[in-house]
Amino acid sequence: MPPNDPPLPPLREVIAKYGLRAEKSLGQNFLLDLNLTGRIARCAGSLEGETIIEIGPGPGGLTRAILASGANRVIAIEKDQRCLDALGDIAAAYPGRLEILNEDALALDETKLFDGKARIIANLPYNVATPLLIKWLGHTDHFKSMTLMFQKEVADRITASPRTKAYGRLTILCQWLCEVSKEFDISPKAFTPPPKVTSTVVSLVPRSTPTFPAKMEILEKVVAAAFGQRRKMLRASLKSLKIPAEELLVSVGLDPTSRAEELTVEDFCKLARKYEEFQ
Ligand code: SAM
Repeated sequence: MPPNDPPLPPLREVIAKYGLRAEKSLGQNFLLDLNLTGRIARCAGSLEGETIIEIGPGPGGLTRAILASGANRVIAIEKDQRCLDALGDIAAAYPGRLEILNEDALALDETKLFDGKARIIANLPYNVATPLLIKWLGHTDHFKSMTLMFQKEVADRITASPRTKAYGRLTILCQWLCEVSKEFDISPKAFTPPPKVTSTVVSLVPRSTPTFPAKMEILEKVVAAAFGQRRKMLRASLKSLKIPAEELLVSVGLDPTSRAEELTVEDFCKLARKYEEFQ
């Protein structure tokens, strides 16, 4: 951290002082290495003057890094009441820059908390990481970027290429709305307590307009039908949409015997637009 950052005790001391024994049900795996939390914050680019939403600050390792990087306003949403005093110490060290909300992020509409656009930076609780991401994908116009840590398997799905096992519904939705990139992996050993799996930091930068036009709810329906039975040929899996599946596929120039994982984001958007006409 730059030398002019306010002195705060090591995170291990903070955890001991406030009795923050990690709760599995809250997905608590804390990052205590401030070099690593600094590296995550830097993935979001320059934070000078920015508003940041952080989900699940816990004892505040990543929060400190975000503030030290110059963020103007950090809104930290933490469900665990036990973390509030530790976070209060950080707020006192950075007067007027850290707001702490003791809320369930799943139930909250973050877009009501700020004007303009914010960045999301979070080491997400793994048990709710995917539903949180899907919620934010519904409001990408409010976010400049999302720098998020997931279990590696979810990061693989977000960034997957066609014709791979990881390619699926989450891939299509994320890549349709955002430019996605893998930043770096973090070993389980870096966390307290260590999780069972490797973690990966992913950047998602919302596109100003989606790559190809389609209505989100229609696209989601088509993609869900296609990947719901991913081993089947599309002429069979799309029957669940209650339309002449083969005709739909042929009308947009797709081979009815192809499978979901062979289609690009553009193919799915074409299908979604045509499906709308068929209804
Ligand atoms: N940011 C800290 C770090 O990097 O060390 C903690 C990350 S830990 C993986 C996830 C955090 O999310 C925990 O502090 C947990 O209490 C919090 N959390 C879990 N579920 C939540 C929810 N639904 N809403 C808000 N916070 C939640």
